[in-house]
Amino acid sequence: IVTAPEQPGASVRLRPEIAALPAYRQGRPAPADGFKLSSNENPHEPLPGVVEAVAASAHEINRYPDATALAVRERIAERFGVTADEVIVGAGSVSLIAQFITAAAAPGDEVVYSWRSFEAYPGLVTVAGATSVRVPNRPDHGHDLDAMAAAVTDRTRVVIVCSPNNPTGTVVTADEFERFMVAVPDDLLVLLDEAYIEFVRDEASVDGRTLIGRYPNLVILRTFSKAYGLAGLRVGYAIGPIAILDAARSTAIPLSVTAASAAGAIASLDAESELLERVDVIVERRDRLRAALIAQGWAIPQAQGNFVWLPSGNDTAAVAERLFDAGLVTRAFPPDGIRVSIGEEASVEILLRILGELVPASQ
Ligand code: PMP
Repeated sequence: IVTAPEQPGASVRLRPEIAALPAYRQGRPAPADGFKLSSNENPHEPLPGVVEAVAASAHEINRYPDATALAVRERIAERFGVTADEVIVGAGSVSLIAQFITAAAAPGDEVVYSWRSFEAYPGLVTVAGATSVRVPNRPDHGHDLDAMAAAVTDRTRVVIVCSPNNPTGTVVTADEFERFMVAVPDDLLVLLDEAYIEFVRDEASVDGRTLIGRYPNLVILRTFSKAYGLAGLRVGYAIGPIAILDAARSTAIPLSVTAASAAGAIASLDAESELLERVDVIVERRDRLRAALIAQGWAIPQAQGNFVWLPSGNDTAAVAERLFDAGLVTRAFPPDGIRVSIGEEASVEILLRILGELVPASQ
């Protein structure tokens, strides 16, 4: 009997639940003249002033960065009318989500979030050794906050609310969110993930900024990756009560926000009005694309992020493949649907041409 040789390292005792975790998926690279619409990136090139600020920071890369990232925290604090201690920055908001989960949830504890939502949540919960409790989205693809509140047990340590929700694009309303905050215990950590908030135009939507200082258990998370176009620099931030942020400072990997990242973030805040004009361009493109897809017969839910959700059901893999053949890389979540980021204007025409031929008979 011939047995396959064991892979080196395979006998080393590692955590079995980690071995079972899928690696973070990034989507295929776009073909040469195609478009990458799979990671909700900003299609605009960085502003020259931001590139210059990042380049200027390079003269000090023989030194470690400021571990507290004070300069960028002060700049964010000023924008939100809080103190720098009420702000924490991390290597992307995904790092901060991990820090908060690890700070609050241990083995045996539960973390509640809606599903579908951001793909990274399940893995971060597993890494913390805690248990995911996924509450299905409503038929309109939005969070079911009443069901999420009902899913809270005495083992729940974190609830994550994602608005706009990745990948469905729906928002939680301010009224729904406030009802939810009243319904859950005030010693339960609530993370409001607002990675796409700058793209929201629905006036009924929750806006974490208006809730700062109102709840002892609420932390809002935002990022420079999307509206500010700095995905490659990895800077996210959270605003909340100092005691909760201090715990997340303790679970951080030290020194993960570089001087270059901090310089890019500060330069982006300096150029905020110009960057937010670019957000308006993406929002206009999104709304036009959504309206045209609905006119074709697609049941596109509310789209308040920089992406639209195509509920392509069992056709998901086939539709994504057709889009890929036409040069468009999208993010397929079989058997539910496809998330399509709002990219360059030229991608819109291709999307409408291909998707117009593929409208499902019933959705
Ligand atoms: N939250 C949500 C809902 C996201 O979609 C993303 C990025 N895809 C993040 C957080 C993390 O973004 P970053 O780490 O780049 O700040």
